[in-house]
Amino acid sequence: MAFKESDVPQFDTVFGRNLLAEVPDFVAAPILVVTMADLWPKFRDALPGVDVYFVESMERQRLEADLDSASGAASIVGLGGGQAIDAAKYFAWRAGKPLFQFPTSLSVDAVFGHRAGVREDRLVRYVGWAVPETVYIDLDIIEAAPRELNLGGLGDVFCFFTGVMDWRYAAAQGKCEAKWPYDESLADISLAKAEAALAAMDDIRALNDRGIAVMVDALRWGGASFHAAGWNPRHIEGVEHFIFYALEAGTGKKFLHGQAVCLGLILGCMMHDQRTDELLAAVHSAGIDIRPEAMDITWDDVRTAMKGLQSFVRDEGLAYGIAHDFDVTDAFLDAAQAKIEGAYGAWTR
Ligand SMILES: [Zn+2]
Repeated sequence: MAFKESDVPQFDTVFGRNLLAEVPDFVAAPILVVTMADLWPKFRDALPGVDVYFVESMERQRLEADLDSASGAASIVGLGGGQAIDAAKYFAWRAGKPLFQFPTSLSVDAVFGHRAGVREDRLVRYVGWAVPETVYIDLDIIEAAPRELNLGGLGDVFCFFTGVMDWRYAAAQGKCEAKWPYDESLADISLAKAEAALAAMDDIRALNDRGIAVMVDALRWGGASFHAAGWNPRHIEGVEHFIFYALEAGTGKKFLHGQAVCLGLILGCMMHDQRTDELLAAVHSAGIDIRPEAMDITWDDVRTAMKGLQSFVRDEGLAYGIAHDFDVTDAFLDAAQAKIEGAYGAWTR
């Protein structure tokens, strides 16, 4: 079937200023704000008299145990990055309450997706169904967020490039999953969004209204089209996220999403031998430091993860792509390190 963007239902999204302070006047009380303890001091003056739930864990058992916090509320407000937004979705879903989402940065696409990422037996599962009344992009809040969080959101935009490369690769090998045959119309919309971000890098680096709007448009497409394509992630992610998962599994570390995904992006481009220099320049110009040392890991960690990538994606049953076949040699890894250090310089601290 041919997808048209206008056929894909997307979450209502409102841009403006001082939006959070309006919450008590339009959200039914009692209001439960789901947020992070370290964020709350910045926002509590705007929201007097609300109940607050601080997310400490995304373990599903823990969220279930804390469900009582939500059942007494008339409305749920999610305020934060990925975890607070996802926990708010989970509570809204399980307790059947209206949800209002306030992302505090553009770090990931979570706010535009229906399902919440929760941990079960150490694995992340995406569960639930939460359609927010509206996603509020409060420009005052976004502009005040750490720059590396906002620009890190480019990871969840540029991954459309490598996702489509993987999907096309799988199609060429005759290895697309039967449920997800290659669809040019879907791939083309993703690529257009990612190209638009690439073309707007000056605005995105400046984080001006236009730059924020271009990023939001792409992130919003990611969440909405995952659902509209029948929970098909093929046109929005691939090898770059798989490398991130493999690094996380291998090192046991938590990464800033955009940093690790953008490292995966560049390595994935090199594996496909497509668009590496152009995307490396964009990621570098955004100030996203993809050197392993900037993520508190080493090149040896990256080498180990990359050498184990083929068995990792096969063991995890991830979507078929370049990672399933590519022979990661020392020469490839030497070239990758040289390319990245060529852009950023060698780590000296
Ligand atoms: Zn992501």
